[in-house]
Amino acid sequence: MSSDPVLHSRRSLTLRFDIPISHTREFWDGLKEGKFLVTRCKKCGNISFPPQSDCPRCMSNEHEWVELKREGKLLTYTLVQVTPASFVDNDPYIVAIAEFQGGIKILAWLEGAKLDKIGPGIQVRLETRVSKEGNPYYVFTLPQSL
Ligand SMILES: [Zn+2]
Repeated sequence: MSSDPVLHSRRSLTLRFDIPISHTREFWDGLKEGKFLVTRCKKCGNISFPPQSDCPRCMSNEHEWVELKREGKLLTYTLVQVTPASFVDNDPYIVAIAEFQGGIKILAWLEGAKLDKIGPGIQVRLETRVSKEGNPYYVFTLPQSL
């Protein structure tokens, strides 16, 4: 069996994203300060993440920014072994969904976890980070005992 000739490229690609954040600025500013902010409806008390300017429960547009409790429960996760182009420099990583205060479900990378040590129902903690480019983001971490 003969293989078709191919040309190999070893060029690196740089991806640039410009994401407008005018409606969620408080959230991103909070992350930079180590806070994880969500919106709470002033009328019915419903908390929302991603932040919402209109309450999905009662449609009120009066909200305030409050810090979310950091402890949550792992619901599900997967190991990403074939990384997308934008994460090609990363080792395989775990993406997880965890549930927090008020039933809020959040998707994030789970740092420092070994697959044989985790499972649905374990406690995770929401942590804030700042990337090398200066962009804030968030991850889940495990209690020291795991
Ligand atoms: Zn409401």
